[in-house]
Amino acid sequence: MPNSCAFCGSTQPLTREHLFGKWVSKIGLDLSPASHHSSALNGLPRDLGVQPPYRLQVKNFCAACNNGWMSKMEKAAQRVLTPLILGNPGKIALEDQGILAMWAQKTALTAMLVSSDEQREGGYGLARSEYKAFYLHRERMQPLDCSRFWIGEYAEDDGFSAVRVTPLVLHSPRNPEPDVPCGYALTIVLGRVVVQGIRFTSADAEVDVKSTMDMPQLWPGQGTLQWPGGTPCTRESFLGFADGKRLRGVDGQVALQPWRQAAHMPESVHAGDQVAVPAMCRKHVVSYPATLLMEAMRGRFYAFLRTCGCQVTYLLHTDSDRSRFRAHGDDAVRIYKRLPGEEQRLVDGTEPFLCKRLPADADAAIMKAASQL
Ligand SMILES: [Zn+2]
Ligand SMILES: [Zn+2]
Ligand SMILES: [Zn+2]
Repeated sequence: MPNSCAFCGSTQPLTREHLFGKWVSKIGLDLSPASHHSSALNGLPRDLGVQPPYRLQVKNFCAACNNGWMSKMEKAAQRVLTPLILGNPGKIALEDQGILAMWAQKTALTAMLVSSDEQREGGYGLARSEYKAFYLHRERMQPLDCSRFWIGEYAEDDGFSAVRVTPLVLHSPRNPEPDVPCGYALTIVLGRVVVQGIRFTSADAEVDVKSTMDMPQLWPGQGTLQWPGGTPCTRESFLGFADGKRLRGVDGQVALQPWRQAAHMPESVHAGDQVAVPAMCRKHVVSYPATLLMEAMRGRFYAFLRTCGCQVTYLLHTDSDRSRFRAHGDDAVRIYKRLPGEEQRLVDGTEPFLCKRLPADADAAIMKAASQL
């Protein structure tokens, strides 16, 4: 049922909802265009391009949800979050902490709906049951059960905002080689505030987790909290942070790691000297020389364009542990053109392969080029 409310399942007409509540654009943040980033569960980021920040919308909720409990929750969150987004130090009362964690959870659930319907049908995003459970418990003004949240500071005034969800696997002596995620980390940057949460989707997988950034725990609440606290997150540390790399099991026995096999996504196949990855259309694969993976292991990353059988062009790049789709269609070509550096001709196999070498921070280079469109 693609046209039913993502929360309550109602088939009443759907209404528009801001990814970040509309109030965020009215509190005096710098509204100049900035790169905006939401990324799907499986590491296939959906490039949102350059939008007027804080104005992204989804159309997945019915009017009753949108104007009822969701709006009530946004109002409560707005009161507590506004000074933090603007960077004003202060205290967060115990009774406000559940609502902030709930807001972060809702924002992550909403952001994962930004993907197109086709992408969702292909298994991208969070399970429908997460939305159902959230709706079922909406009156509690708390996040989902089996979750833990921290609140910290984003150190820079660069207008960057992000919502990122990363599935996590839990390595423990009992289960050293897990093959399914036990839950996910969600990370939100908005103005100067960072909220990170971990939600265990199977209750028996839940373990005690702490943030090695020493960010104060927001949920379950432990008392009045002073903001900011802990080590601030920077643009540079953001990706590792969002991948859950600063989260540790309290007992030292368990390790949390991003789930590398993307959900519902066959692993890259080495076909001779080519690596094939499924294209976003889900019907075709696109290939690139395996040499680029060797290069990636040495810290050298490349961007390149590939076209699938639907005649859609994709912008891909290699990263430390995978290749990633970053844009498609005309945007892919435009972003590629704006990337710094000379185009290189890699002679690998029969056909020359054109690509551009990326700086060490491949992600930042792509985002910068995208922001110049
Ligand atoms: Zn609804
Ligand atoms: Zn295709
Ligand atoms: Zn990214």
